[in-house]
Parts: sequence; structure tokens; C-alpha cells
Amino acid sequence: MDKWGLFNLADHPLPSFYSGRMLVIGESAHASTPHHGLGAGFYMENVAVLPCLLKQLDAYSEILPDDLNAVFAAFDTSRRQRDQWLVESSRRAACLYEWQLSGTAPGHFDAMHADIQAR
Ligand SMILES: Cc1cc2nc3c(=O)[nH]c(=O)nc-3n(C[C@H](O)[C@H](O)[C@H](O)COP(=O)(O)OP(=O)(O)OC[C@H]3O[C@@H](n4cnc5c(N)ncnc54)[C@H](O)[C@@H]3O)c2cc1C
Repeated sequence: MDKWGLFNLADHPLPSFYSGRMLVIGESAHASTPHHGLGAGFYMENVAVLPCLLKQLDAYSEILPDDLNAVFAAFDTSRRQRDQWLVESSRRAACLYEWQLSGTAPGHFDAMHADIQAR
């Protein structure tokens, strides 16, 4: 195939990963192009963090909606910026690989290579 539909959230980052008692993780939170090969890796980071935060609720005999909200807020604070970094960096890598950035003609190969390597 010479054409791919690469949908991602670079231009439309989620303003929050949660609303009320709903929390999004994985592709719905940080859909990215596949050029970093990290989407599922970041997913795993997130599902490692979430139980640690939920465990804090063990101390409560009854879990109230506000308690869950505090956990989701902590998750959002600790994860959203890093996840969005992946989305944006992967999008740039995609543009570099696919010759989609202005100023990345073949003559600029060294600069493109350095940019991709740094990522
Ligand atoms: C080409 C490519 C290469 C990749 N390579 C890597 C890699 O090397 N390393 C890496 O870490 N990540 C990689 N990723 C990213 C990784 O695949 C995703 O981050 C990961 O699959 C996201 O998991 P998810 O469960 O959030 O979403 P998905 O895997 O998309 O799962 C969502 C599921 O929901 C189902 N679904 C959708 N709508 C409905 C509905 N209405 N009702 C019921 N079911 C529904 C879908 O069929 C799907 O099974 C790659 C992605 C692509 C596209």
C-alpha cells in the first residue's frame, strides 16, 4: 500500500483524560502515528500507574465518587503531558519519514536523520 490513513490527536489533544467516573487510556487518550513504535508501550505505562493510584483508595471503607475523581485528576496530571509528547513527536517523525515537512528536501537528509535519531 502506498497510502495510509494515519489518524492522531496531535492537532486535537484531549483537554482532560477523565470526566466524572469515565477515564480514557490507550488509543482513545493518545492516538498517535506508529512512527515511534510506542503507542502500546505508553499504554502499558498508564496501566502500571493507574492501579498504584487506585490502591490509595484501599484505605477507604466506602469509595465515593469524589475519591475516584481525585485519583483520575492525579492520573491526568501525571500522564497527559507525557502522552501528548508521544503524539506530537511521533507525528513529527511521521512527517520526516514521509517528506511532509517544508525544508526537508533530500538535500537536508543529514538534518532529518539527526532529528529522527534524537527522537
Ligand atoms: C501500524 C502500527 C504499528 C504499531 N506499532 C507499535 C509498536 O511497535 N509498539 C507499540 O508499543 N505500539 C505500536 N502501535 C500502537 C498500538 O497498536 C496501539 O497503541 C494499541 O493497539 C492501542 O490499544 P487500544 O486497546 O487503546 O486500541 P486498539 O488496539 O485499537 O483496540 C480497540 C479495540 O476496540 C474495538 N472497537 C472499536 N470500536 C468498537 C465498538 N464500537 N464496539 C466494540 N469494539 C470496538 C476495535 O475493533 C479494537 O479491537 C502501532 C500501531 C500501528 C497502527
